[in-house]
Amino acid sequence: MGPVTRLSSDIPTNLWIGARQRPATGGNTFAVHNPATEEILAEVADAAATDAVLALDAAVVAQEEWAGVSPRAKSQVLSEVFRGVEKRSEDLARVMTLEMGKPLVESRGEVAYGNEYFRWFAEEAVRLPGRYQQAPAGGGSILVTRAPVGPVLAITPWNFPLAMATRKIAPALAAGCPIILKPAKETPLTMLLLGEVLSEVLPQECSGLVSILPTTDSAGLSSTLMADKRLRKITFTGSTRVGKQLVQQSAENLLRTSMELGGNAAFVVAEDADMNVAIDAAMQAKMRNGGEACIAANRFLVHEAVAEEFSRRLSAKMGAVRCGNGLDEGVDLGPMITREQRDKIAQLVAEAVAEGAEVSVGGEIPDGPGWFYPATVMMNVPRGARILREEIFGPVATITTFAALEEAVAMANDTEFGLAAYGFSRSLDTARYLAENLRAGMVGINRGAISDPAAPFGGIKESGFGREGGIEGIEEYLDTRYIAL
Ligand code: NAP
Repeated sequence: MGPVTRLSSDIPTNLWIGARQRPATGGNTFAVHNPATEEILAEVADAAATDAVLALDAAVVAQEEWAGVSPRAKSQVLSEVFRGVEKRSEDLARVMTLEMGKPLVESRGEVAYGNEYFRWFAEEAVRLPGRYQQAPAGGGSILVTRAPVGPVLAITPWNFPLAMATRKIAPALAAGCPIILKPAKETPLTMLLLGEVLSEVLPQECSGLVSILPTTDSAGLSSTLMADKRLRKITFTGSTRVGKQLVQQSAENLLRTSMELGGNAAFVVAEDADMNVAIDAAMQAKMRNGGEACIAANRFLVHEAVAEEFSRRLSAKMGAVRCGNGLDEGVDLGPMITREQRDKIAQLVAEAVAEGAEVSVGGEIPDGPGWFYPATVMMNVPRGARILREEIFGPVATITTFAALEEAVAMANDTEFGLAAYGFSRSLDTARYLAENLRAGMVGINRGAISDPAAPFGGIKESGFGREGGIEGIEEYLDTRYIAL
């Protein structure tokens, strides 16, 4: 382990229980590393189960107070959070790059994107749906209203330290729910800094609306909260394995659940695709966040007539990707989040090569320090290879060819996941065929970037259920109530 690297500004390292910072009960801390240098960035308070109960106590009180705030006033508070994040955006981006590794330009992009959820749900807070109608049989009326589900536990991953949380915090507050956020242990600092913005903006009497609890005991903390009948919902973004455990646990108190889980996106390039569009989109869909994204293109399925051109041009682009410390000018690709994650990618590549795949560019771990893996392209990847079945979560593009479009769609759908898929063609008929037959919660047609706060983000099959963003996103935090009049 290297020396402690000082953060450039005063970044909070204690828990946020409501608007107050405090050390963890018992005073424990844990180290957060910079994946580009392997140095320790900070020691962060390590929340215990007792802290989680304190946060829930505060949440219950805050919910009552927040219920008395009008939708318009809630909307204004969320707009102020949006402006507060804008003001601190450079600090947030820098902290994100330091703890997560992505290039500063991408961190700035994530801060802007993540902040849009505050703006979007500020606008939605005044539009909670309801309905009034005459009962068909006459003699009465049907009134349908919405009510906040109650205190929420949100668990988020390290790959998008800000956006995966703002997608949950913003709709929860707009709907009237307090929220306890547990960030990933690799990247708690971005969230703790967001906590500072929230503490400055949220009304004092509602101070328990948002708590932020980093911990090394995520299972203990979430079990404690989920066993407490006052908690009413869990929203999780992370692996399918952990998501399944949480759904099982949520059954005990029949919690509302939203699960944003893993993906294994196919990227289908038809014979008549516009190759310039497909290559640019391939770089976006593969290399955004260094490939550490749930909607990252994992499997490139390319028509055999254009496979040579696609492989050659993609390899040239990937070969030009500059890998390095995300704080340095001109770097396109930062380190992977941990040594284990980097080694897992190397293992998947090595196995595929042993089964006959060819590496056209990349594939060699550079000298340290830092957990780097280069932009890599693999061709002729055999169909049964593990790298095609599992989420790579790294900058590795695998190319497999097909002869008929039906065959490509069958391959694309041959996965337990169903988060995102991409299709490329200049023909309207082919594009429509792909849009209708690729089985995923989100399909990009001639587009490599699909995330949008105004659109419902989420998966089907083992990629989970529930949607974040769009007009659908707030429904996850609302119960439907029917009143017979
Ligand atoms: P992970 O291991 O499931 O961790 C995600 C979060 O869950 C972290 O905060 C983690 O805390 C916590 N956690 C781990 N075990 C837990 C348990 N037993 N009980 C309660 N919480 C627990 O996932 P990851 O590997 O960090 O993240 C990558 C995964 O997230 C990928 O599969 C990716 O596809 C998925 N993802 C999905 C979306 C989407 O919207 N669908 C978006 C981004 C990422 P610790 O840090 O303490 O382990």
